[in-house]
Amino acid sequence: MPRPTKIIIDLKAMRKNLEIARGSANAKVIAVVKANAYGHGLDRVLPVVEQADALALLEIDRAIELRQAGFVKPIILLEGFFDPNEISIFSRKNLTAVIHHKDQVDMLVSANLEKPIGIFLKMNSGMNRLGFSIEDFDKMYQTLLISKNVNSIVAMTHFADADGEKGIEWQLKRFKAAKTAALRNVETSMGNSATILKYPEAVGDWSRPGIMLYGAAPFPAAGQSLFPVMSLISEIISTQIVDKGQTIGYGCDYICEKKMLVGIVACGYGDGYPRNVISGTPVMIGKFKAPIVGRISMDLLAVDLSNLPRLDQKTVVTMWGDGLPVESIAKAAKTISYDLLCRVSNRVPARVLSL
Ligand SMILES: *Cc1c(COP(=O)(O)O)cnc(C)c1O
Repeated sequence: MPRPTKIIIDLKAMRKNLEIARGSANAKVIAVVKANAYGHGLDRVLPVVEQADALALLEIDRAIELRQAGFVKPIILLEGFFDPNEISIFSRKNLTAVIHHKDQVDMLVSANLEKPIGIFLKMNSGMNRLGFSIEDFDKMYQTLLISKNVNSIVAMTHFADADGEKGIEWQLKRFKAAKTAALRNVETSMGNSATILKYPEAVGDWSRPGIMLYGAAPFPAAGQSLFPVMSLISEIISTQIVDKGQTIGYGCDYICEKKMLVGIVACGYGDGYPRNVISGTPVMIGKFKAPIVGRISMDLLAVDLSNLPRLDQKTVVTMWGDGLPVESIAKAAKTISYDLLCRVSNRVPARVLSL
């Protein structure tokens, strides 16, 4: 028997999430699969995401692999190309480049390509990360429009606070103002998951769902409707009866206030479970919640079983997933679901529940 720690990837759940993304907004769907499909494994989730209208990621190697695997729909590289030599790969492999910086425009216009490429031209409408200012956007558009190396243009922007209080209206206004100046006839792409669920009318022609496809809520109220795709599971591989006054784990900083039955679960920060959660953060053991006690080790964590009924040794322990949303563990770790999902370690094998 190998170590029982693994992730379960539920493709049926993911397909439902894709359908929700598709149904929420009237747009073509670009499934965002960067960072190895948010830690789920791009190969594993391909049977679902290939049903989207396009894929988006940042890693050109993965884009090439997708083409080699026979994927023919658009692939959008969210940071475009980084040096002139890459552009011919975009051309040969029919990859779409997000163009967000003047250097990229210069590189593209002066390239010698077999075939022109498609681009998403990115405006910085307030995120202040990537993209052209409203003034430059128009100029870049005009330059690219007449370039022999460009065959299609989609106008794109990204919202900074679609899930928060500031909302999107302020950015949308800027984007539209610039668009009417020169881009009356181009398609647009604006909405991430939070936008799709909260402002479905504002996603543009191409929506860009990421986190929602994986079943994690981009804002708390969105949780109920989505289906968790990844569960991080393991088993209790040892138990200890620890007397009152004794301590558990490294640092000896968890002191038992009573005699306790402690279960040792084969999962730690070396698997991607966050080390900084505090004692009391729950895991699911079968259908019961049990609190973590003491520090998370690299390979193990300890839980208090005192209040649970007697369990079979092989009972599945879920660190997050069905019944225990990854968002709640992320919150306990002072981070976001995206971070935990991406951090699952390579040593953790996956079992895929197929379609
Ligand atoms: C990652 C990313 C997305 C997806 O965002 P989610 O919040 O995961 O839905 C969309 N657009 C761009 C440009 C991104 O980088």
